Amino acid sequence: MALAHNLGFPRIGGDRELKKALEAHWKGDLDVAGLRSVGRDLRAQHWQLQKDAGIDLLPVGDFAWYDQVLTHSLMFGVIPNRFRPAAGAPTLDTLFAMARGAVGNSSSSGCCGAHAQPAVAQELTKWFDSNYHYLVPELTADQQFQLSWTQLFEEVEEGHALGHRLKPVLIGPLTYLWLGKVKGAAFDKLELLERLLPLYEQILQRLAGQGVEWVQIDEPILALDLPQDWKNAFERAYNILQRAPCKKLLATYFGGLEDCLGLAANLPVDGLHIDLVRAPQQFPAVLDRLPAYKVLSLGVVNGRNIWRTDLVRVLEVLQQADERLGERLWIAPSCSLLHSPVDLAREDQLDAELRSWLAFAVQKCAEVAVLAAALNDPQNAEVQAALAASQAVQASRASSARIHKPAVQARVASISAAHSQRLSPFALRIEQQRSRLQLPAFPTTTIGSFPQTTAIRLARQAFKQGKLSSAEYTEAMHSEIRHAVALQEKLGLDVLVHGEAERNDMVEYFAEQLDGYLFTRFGWVQSYGSRCVKPAVIYGDLSRPQPMTVDWIGYAQGLTGKVMKGMLTGPVTMLMWSFARDDISREQQARQLALAIRDEVNDLEAAGIRIIQIDEAAFREGLPLRRAQWREYLDWASEAFRLCASGVQDATQIHTHMCYSEFNDVIESIAAMDADVITIETSRSDMELLDAFEAFDYPNDIGPGVYDIHSPRVPDAQEMLKLLRKAAQRIAPERLWVNPDCGLKTRGWAETEAALVQMVTAARQLRTELA
Ligand code: GLN
Ligand code: ZN
Repeated sequence: MALAHNLGFPRIGGDRELKKALEAHWKGDLDVAGLRSVGRDLRAQHWQLQKDAGIDLLPVGDFAWYDQVLTHSLMFGVIPNRFRPAAGAPTLDTLFAMARGAVGNSSSSGCCGAHAQPAVAQELTKWFDSNYHYLVPELTADQQFQLSWTQLFEEVEEGHALGHRLKPVLIGPLTYLWLGKVKGAAFDKLELLERLLPLYEQILQRLAGQGVEWVQIDEPILALDLPQDWKNAFERAYNILQRAPCKKLLATYFGGLEDCLGLAANLPVDGLHIDLVRAPQQFPAVLDRLPAYKVLSLGVVNGRNIWRTDLVRVLEVLQQADERLGERLWIAPSCSLLHSPVDLAREDQLDAELRSWLAFAVQKCAEVAVLAAALNDPQNAEVQAALAASQAVQASRASSARIHKPAVQARVASISAAHSQRLSPFALRIEQQRSRLQLPAFPTTTIGSFPQTTAIRLARQAFKQGKLSSAEYTEAMHSEIRHAVALQEKLGLDVLVHGEAERNDMVEYFAEQLDGYLFTRFGWVQSYGSRCVKPAVIYGDLSRPQPMTVDWIGYAQGLTGKVMKGMLTGPVTMLMWSFARDDISREQQARQLALAIRDEVNDLEAAGIRIIQIDEAAFREGLPLRRAQWREYLDWASEAFRLCASGVQDATQIHTHMCYSEFNDVIESIAAMDADVITIETSRSDMELLDAFEAFDYPNDIGPGVYDIHSPRVPDAQEMLKLLRKAAQRIAPERLWVNPDCGLKTRGWAETEAALVQMVTAARQLRTELA
């Protein structure tokens, strides 16, 4: 009998109940008891949903008040001193302080500390290549581990009381240490392993005492390029844990085991989970090398997207496994369902055909269960019906005219090398651009957005609800544009922007205007803490029926004699921040997006816009987890950018923007994008990014951000000047631009204006200094 299990369920709630409860609690509108009761209800509801869907073994420990890595830090007692309660055990207040920071008053925040200084929250970082962010554990050389948080045991008890068969989920010791960051004196994190393992033994003991049979231990780092000492540590760690009670299922996901395959297959644990969605090719090798006593869990339902599984195709693979493994075969989603929305049943306003192609977490559980049933009871009528329905979905997607558009495909097929190349090299283009634009040295500009005020959001909402006519809405936005343009003129900025008031979000705004995208109402996925995103879904070939930004930007240009920069979102970012198709490659989808955006670029140029910025905020995010796959990604990603940017004349200047500072390993590909100007984040790292330019001679113009827009603090001109002088040592002065780190939409007008005054002052002073 194959067993259906799940690696984790989304915790946020189908109606984002957890988000709402957390935010109410933080505001003081919901007490701890109220918050805890929301959590308990959600867990009960989620277990029931999974059980009703047919899952045999349910995860516990996938619930978290903020983040599962943070829960582990508390459990292990990895609580930085600035958050440690003066007396007693950590509380939910401690947890939220670690996640969100705490005010300095030790008595009211429940945190101790030598000074009454605000305790800065732990760092947030992306969870592997997903859009989920975890709180980075802070590890010190003298780190002690001590069981300090009992949430897991309480939840096990809670689930048992409800009569569920549960499998606790733990992050493995090596993955936990890998994700941590060394604080204080430098040391090798691996040295902490021996100290950490007794705690795992203690946890497993306690779970066994609660009647737990199986524990899932997540070690996704086995799908990364692991240094040899970490690989060795796996054997050491699991040899020690072998003695601890409970059967252990070692879970790997987000990629193939590759060079770690033999290692993972032979660790002394009772089962291994592999991701066959990301790495189907590893199936035969794992099957061959798995010791005969072990359970093999096959992740065959994609936990990272929203598409229904091709059950018949998957079943063929599972049948082979079933013959070999019998009882030892488990079936699961590829990874935790944390990364997919909760329940498609709520999408009652979605077009019926489009909806029939989708599966959210609840539906994915049902797919896992059907696959297990198809092995265990193949003649079952319900199973037969489900397989037939799945086949019908595949057939409909394969042939639907709503997905497959000959015109789009023909256009993609006709792309030649010339399409992704500007007419002349940068050196010639920049001459023409300089003489056309007539900008001063160290030109000042911003990244695009100005404050998204409540008034703007209300106007957009009213327009969507039909309470504001199209003419009224247009006028409201025009008035915002007039305000932004007048202010920029007053401040003396050189290259102006229209302010992006009309945009809810830099991806959604464009997605809504492209053919081939669909939008859900409740397709929320947790990004971090209480923050959720609702990615648009690419379902078909993409095209642009009509111009998307030309009216707004043309209006803005008409208000001023200065240069108005047109603002667009690039193809790679559009793709990375959407749910992508699974029936064609990411590369193909990026090409289609690039052609759609290329049309917009060309239309802006035809409307007299002389500078066009194409944001690629997510360019680096797309990097595969394994280095060996980087080249291929970087090649198509930079080509997609060039494809959308290269339809213009030499004299039209193309900008791009990226908001992060680790450039060292991708700088050549960023150069290969061949944007005339790139604006980037640098201020927080004190221009550290410029080190990348030491080794690699970046050829085009650069605007390293001179102030941090993530904070309301207004730095003065001297501070910015210092950064600029530093930049001027590395970047030829004639190629240096002056701008903030990122868009200003999250800031208020007062700070924005004050900071830009300083920025313009700094640029002017630099002009006199270096004249
Ligand atoms: N143009 C966008 C803005 O200014 C860029 C945002 C981003 O890079 N994330 O808001
Ligand atoms: Zn940015």
